[in-house]
Amino acid sequence: TMDYGTAPESNAHAVAWLKDHAAGFGQFINGAFTKPSAKRFDVANPANGQVLASVSQGSAADVDAAVKAARKALGSWSRLSGHERAKHLYAIARIIQKRERFLSVLETMDNGKPIRESRDIDIPLVARHFYHHAGWAELIADEFPGHQPVGVCGQIIPWNFPLLMLAWKIAPALAAGNTVVLKPAEFTPLTALAFAEICREAGLPPGVVNIVTGDGATGAALVDHGQVDKIAFTGSTEVGRLIRKATAGSGKKLSLELGGKSPFIVHEDADLDAAVEGVVDAIWFNQGQVCCAGSRILVQEGIAPRFLAKLRRRMQSLRVGDPLDKSIDMGAIVDPIQLQRITEIVEKGKQEGGTLLQASCELPTAGNWFAPSLFTDVAPSSTVMDVEIFGPVAAVMTFRTPEEAVQIANHTRYGLAATVWSENINLALDTAARVKAGVVWINSTNLFDAAAGFGGYRESGFGREGGREGMYEYLVPSWEAALKPAAPAKVAPLSALP
Ligand code: NAD
Repeated sequence: TMDYGTAPESNAHAVAWLKDHAAGFGQFINGAFTKPSAKRFDVANPANGQVLASVSQGSAADVDAAVKAARKALGSWSRLSGHERAKHLYAIARIIQKRERFLSVLETMDNGKPIRESRDIDIPLVARHFYHHAGWAELIADEFPGHQPVGVCGQIIPWNFPLLMLAWKIAPALAAGNTVVLKPAEFTPLTALAFAEICREAGLPPGVVNIVTGDGATGAALVDHGQVDKIAFTGSTEVGRLIRKATAGSGKKLSLELGGKSPFIVHEDADLDAAVEGVVDAIWFNQGQVCCAGSRILVQEGIAPRFLAKLRRRMQSLRVGDPLDKSIDMGAIVDPIQLQRITEIVEKGKQEGGTLLQASCELPTAGNWFAPSLFTDVAPSSTVMDVEIFGPVAAVMTFRTPEEAVQIANHTRYGLAATVWSENINLALDTAARVKAGVVWINSTNLFDAAAGFGGYRESGFGREGGREGMYEYLVPSWEAALKPAAPAKVAPLSALP
């Protein structure tokens, strides 16, 4: 096979890799790929609609085989010293760095995000997560005495940061000594499949990482499997709710990273030019398909006209188009279904009396596109201020006093992230402390690091990913583990109860 890794500035390796897999992808179970199954689905490039690959729809039997492989691998993997596990994580991190270009191009082709973003943000952060968690593996006996791995972890991820969400899940799980079965999102499974090959190349023992592709039914089979000890889910609040119900009473440990509608507060003393750039990163980064997107922009009344004028000019200057072009700011929406969701919510916003301001850019004809947009003339409870659009559309409201800003910011069922802009650090810190959100950024936005716990309150879920807090999600106190039977008990479904 060819080395897909090293062509510095070419897309050829991703194209060649896809061609090599033209017969379709099977499942990655116990360190090897199964034959592509008869039931498969096409994965398309969001920027032009072209089919990139044919991927297997994981059946309950595939999930069962993957979970069994993970369970078989658990004993020896969990008994390895932290140092030995760290060596595997370092090896994975190094191969990811070596393949940065290949993985960035593949991610952009699969997801539609600008290459600048996958190259400068997503893939470097993926490597960073494996390096960081290799460090935790090294330190585990000293830093988490009296703890042991949870066991077999079922992990389900969304399509907005495909490989990064995989890294957020797999790196801490492995560092803590767990084995995993991961299901990528059906729109974007390709970098997860490339990652499976990297695991093999890194010499990871078979069964430690298993990747099963498929849609929600495959995810549900993983959630329901009786030999899974923990479910880690990132995705919509709606599916998170289903998973919480399905795991209730099963003894499975659970963490949920769900939706958001994060406030972006601009006080009147803020550096307005910086805050405008902040909006670009808050809502047009990744086409707004970001769980912690700053989608509710709250501007203090006195500066609102000036701020909005600057913002409109900046929105108009965004370059939207071919995500593989290095000069592009905004790429394509992941799938026609997502484009339709965005369009429907925006229509509702207009019907409710909101004013829609849109960049008048020329959008490509093929593929899924939505222009950068802003809503003004909206009320706190209007649809576009209330529901997660998960697209490049922010709603703008004004406030009079810092007190009112906090009130509006907290007027939400979510609590994932928030952003505060002010040149007065006392005001910024005071506001930050009173907004209920898992992460609050001051004079910056959408910054992530492997060392900082990320997660939500309320309907944004529970549990943290990253840093020390994130490690606890993949560990149990040893006394608790001693009380637990070797395999979780089978629990009758609620419907079977008298
Ligand atoms: P989704 O909930 O539709 O799908 C997420 C994953 O769950 C996919 O892999 C999907 O196949 C699977 N799934 C669907 N139905 C399932 C079921 N019944 N049982 C088990 N698995 C099932 O979400 P999406 O549209 O892919 O992603 C967008 C959502 O994810 C947004 O709401 C966004 O806010 C959220 N998100 C949250 C975070 C976070 O860290 N909080 C990060 C990224 C995305």
